[in-house]
Amino acid sequence: MSDEHWINETLYSGWGQRFRVKRELARVQSEFQDIVVFESETHGGVLVLDGAIQITERDEFVYQEMLAHVPLLRHGLAKSVLIIGAGDGGVLRRVLQHRTIERAVMVEIDGEVIRLSKEFLPAIGGDAWSDPRADVIVGDGIEYVRNAASGTFDVIIVDSTDPVGVGEALFTDEFYQNCARILTEDGLIVNQCGVPFMQADELHETSLRRAKFFAHVSAYVAAVPTYVGGFMTLGLAGKGRSLATRPTLQEITEAAERAGILGTTRYWTPAIQNGAFDLPPYIAEHLPAI
Ligand code: SAM
Repeated sequence: MSDEHWINETLYSGWGQRFRVKRELARVQSEFQDIVVFESETHGGVLVLDGAIQITERDEFVYQEMLAHVPLLRHGLAKSVLIIGAGDGGVLRRVLQHRTIERAVMVEIDGEVIRLSKEFLPAIGGDAWSDPRADVIVGDGIEYVRNAASGTFDVIIVDSTDPVGVGEALFTDEFYQNCARILTEDGLIVNQCGVPFMQADELHETSLRRAKFFAHVSAYVAAVPTYVGGFMTLGLAGKGRSLATRPTLQEITEAAERAGILGTTRYWTPAIQNGAFDLPPYIAEHLPAI
């Protein structure tokens, strides 16, 4: 995957990005995946899993802010959140910024991702790791949702790898059915659905699957520079009233004020959240009649 000075992403067989490496920080074959952490010339620290870029210090804020803030503000009253995957800690940090949150359970299958992120990318998780509201579990998200009590969580955030290798089971019927069961009446689930320009099936199939278990299925976009290929899509699905109507700009702003996140972000704003649900036709066509 690397020569002396460059690391090439191997996500797509015919096209990709590459980074000039200042220093390789770790290279570990864990029980689940091949993990590389390096310091790049242009993007700060970078985490790579099985050859796919997961996070760079320079643009992680785009993805993490949109993955955490949008569902929490759409819900508006969330107290209890389940995060699956997200071993770098960035989603946990954004979730705990919301002062309404009383409990955030994070279930990451690979303890090595957590260990290496804490050691080499400490700014991404920040103080979240030691926040008393956080419960960080090293375990399988599939098992966790299978065994969790019904009606436990207001929001579930799935920050998974793509549906190949270790992350594959997080895109199945059984997983979504259990998520619907353990969510509260107005509960919401969000998960990354890939970059449709390159991975159109991901959005299409995930949306079809979720439509079986959730009354409302929707998606929104975020432009994450290192998830190459244009917009990334984030799929949002809900059981009850939270997604039935689209909030006004004023309502989004008020929810953000209550949560205490106005003015703390670098990508998310009320207007960005509002516009992110307006999908370009080439993306909307992959959503089954929603
Ligand atoms: N935000 C980045 C992205 O989307 O590219 C990073 C995601 S990365 C941190 C996703 C994490 O999901 C990985 O650390 C992986 O170990 C974890 N994961 C994959 N399958 C899982 C499962 N069944 N249960 C819990 N975590 C899982």
